[in-house]
Amino acid sequence: MHILKFGGSSVADGDRMLNVINILKNAEHDKIIVVLSACKGITDKLEKAANYAKNGDIDLSHLFANEISNHHLAIIDTCFSNDILAKQAKSDVKNYIFELKNLLEGIYLLNELTVMVKDSIFSFGELLSSKIFHYLCLDKSLENNWIDARKIIVTDSNFNAAFPLSDKISEAVENILLTQFNEKIAITQGFIGSDLLSRTTTLGRGGSDLTAALLGAALHADEIQIWTDVDGILSADPNIVKNARTINDITYSEVKDLSFWGAKVLHPKTIFPAIDEKIPVKILNSFNATSNGTLILPANNNTQMQIHSIIAKKQCGLMKINITNGNNLLQMVVNEVNHAIESNKLQLLYAAYSNSNLVVLFEFSNKISNYLQNNIVENITYNEEVAVVCITGQNFKNNLMKINADLSNLLSMQSDIKIYQLLYVFSDTSVLLVVDESQADRIVRHLHDTIINF
Ligand code: ASP
Ligand code: MG
Repeated sequence: MHILKFGGSSVADGDRMLNVINILKNAEHDKIIVVLSACKGITDKLEKAANYAKNGDIDLSHLFANEISNHHLAIIDTCFSNDILAKQAKSDVKNYIFELKNLLEGIYLLNELTVMVKDSIFSFGELLSSKIFHYLCLDKSLENNWIDARKIIVTDSNFNAAFPLSDKISEAVENILLTQFNEKIAITQGFIGSDLLSRTTTLGRGGSDLTAALLGAALHADEIQIWTDVDGILSADPNIVKNARTINDITYSEVKDLSFWGAKVLHPKTIFPAIDEKIPVKILNSFNATSNGTLILPANNNTQMQIHSIIAKKQCGLMKINITNGNNLLQMVVNEVNHAIESNKLQLLYAAYSNSNLVVLFEFSNKISNYLQNNIVENITYNEEVAVVCITGQNFKNNLMKINADLSNLLSMQSDIKIYQLLYVFSDTSVLLVVDESQADRIVRHLHDTIINF
């Protein structure tokens, strides 16, 4: 069993949907569950329609509903060859739009948009895209079963960001999904589910990846494929490093590091259910279907050190505090730092203590330096506007000496480069360099050219 999830840009319009059908026709897997997002931009439009209704502008609200309707009807008009299937698809679209408009009318009359109703509104995006896709597949001789994800993805009642109930999902997969799934392909929706009272919920914006992971985990799938609009996970930000390249395989821990330090990769939380069940997750590009993509594995089993990517998180602050008077003082300083971070609502990025030095990294804010200078008597050095260069890869722990030597070698060749701090992270998959923000891009490019080794 394979789970193939296609995001909004992969099913944006008729052409993109036909492209997905080609991908499915070329797929050799025995059974495939296709998880679809709404067509690109539709979820935003649904939200706008609901907000206008709530704010009393029913005309503008209906205008958005009509745009949504037209977008989907145009796919049917341009892509179908079989009139009967086209008619069925149109009738389903019209019914959904009728229901949507009724809900918008209700919001308008009550002057109220509850989180519960908002989830029902959101659900039309995925219902529409998946229904049209179901008929379009039939039109192109690809037999399939359409499955209502709300019957499978059981969640709590925390509308707009519902928490999936994995035991209930496993039951529903067994009792509903598998009994309805008698073709090679089943088509369902990402993002939407329902609570124990059968009320529509959503998993939070961008939640379709999570749907794919939940289904993959419940079905013990062989692989989950997340089809998107980039070639996979890159070795650097292509806006900074022109020759950034796709990483072939990467561990989940690296994905977490990359996401934490600001790379635009998929949110690691969304694939956790799959990783937890040791199911490989592949990121693929529907605009370039023959590229290999990036395979995310729960853990690696090769023993060599590999350096995969270099990224920089800008606008950070680095504080070093020298504490010479023992542990009581350490406790006090830690409390003060905590307080400063909390009251300034900063995100703490890293903290470590060794050899009388406390090192703290957080998101930059100039409020904090005054606060700390006034409240902490001990010896502080504070560097604002630093960047954290994060080097990720595999098997760093046993190779720290080598990494250290490589880095000092490379950076010593550029004598004006200022490194404030070198930090090792316990995850075994990253090393951090705290550098002057103005030099960050140059350092990233230099390291990318010289130490990436795959
Ligand atoms: N359609 C939803 C969104 O735009 C869910 C998703 O695409 O993952 O957030
Ligand atoms: Mg998405």
